Amino acid sequence: MDKKIPKILACDDNRSILEVVRTILTSEGYNVLTAENGEEAVSIFKKELPDLIILDVSMPGMTGLEALDKIRAFAGEKYIPVIFMTASIKIDDKLRALHGGAVDYLVKPVDHDELIARIKNFLVLKEKHDKLKKEATFDWMTGAFHKVYFLRRAEEELFKCLRNKIPLTFILMDVDNFKEINDTLGHLTGDKVIREFAARLKKMVRKTDLIGRFGGDEFMIMLSYKTATDACVVAERLKKAMKKPIVVEGSKISITFSMGIVEPKQGKEAKIEEVFKEADRALYEAKSKGGDRYVIR
Ligand code: GH3
Ligand code: MG
Repeated sequence: MDKKIPKILACDDNRSILEVVRTILTSEGYNVLTAENGEEAVSIFKKELPDLIILDVSMPGMTGLEALDKIRAFAGEKYIPVIFMTASIKIDDKLRALHGGAVDYLVKPVDHDELIARIKNFLVLKEKHDKLKKEATFDWMTGAFHKVYFLRRAEEELFKCLRNKIPLTFILMDVDNFKEINDTLGHLTGDKVIREFAARLKKMVRKTDLIGRFGGDEFMIMLSYKTATDACVVAERLKKAMKKPIVVEGSKISITFSMGIVEPKQGKEAKIEEVFKEADRALYEAKSKGGDRYVIR
């Protein structure tokens, strides 16, 4: 697989410095974007999402520190190393930059080899960070969120929706008698069934909805802007989508699954753990009634 060329944004109000930086980084093989002021840097950042930023501190208009605040607010949880480049050698200025969220601080005139060496190190760190973040966020087998990450995001959405009186519904689901597939057709076939179940699930919900894998064959989805009544329509659609047998190496495997649907009450404080417990009770009820159905609580 081709390695992605890192994208670096350099911002300085001094055009000749900017040109030198562009030339050095381009000759190192980086994809370089340039900005001549803080506003431009923020707007390029939003459009291009570079991997690393080199930012001048004092510029007319928006300063480097102000631009960094805006970039951090937009980047959210993304790790974007920002290296400040400035003429000031004062410790107070250095500390302000580092406390403001910069990963490093270089005093102009910057030694070219040092700049490249530092950039390389931060790009390696970013790559490691992004890989760990991906592993901590997504279940590699299905691409769904891990339970812990799902619950954290769902908790934030739950809080926002209840505060703004927006409906929100959760469906916890689990394949019926999945162990039989593992026992009769093998664990690898079981894996493929789980993957296909998740793929169909993904097709049936909107991009803004969340999907989490809670265990072997257990998934939860969060449907924003949907009441329990709307969720029943989704549940029926899901049942229909899962009816088509899953084909694994020529064998057609038919599955059914059960669902527990919970719409947290508006006007009440709800905790995600409580919502999950309720959904689990509803799912248990659906299973104990013979499976292949949904129960609303
Ligand atoms: P029920 O109808 O009550 O849900 O019964 P079930 O047989 O589906 O059992 P349950 O949901 O409790 O357990 C799911 C099984 O899935 C347990 C475990 O052996 C298996 N499992 C867990 N993770 C994986 C996985 O990644 N791949 C495969 N193939 N099996 C898994
Ligand atoms: Mg099951």
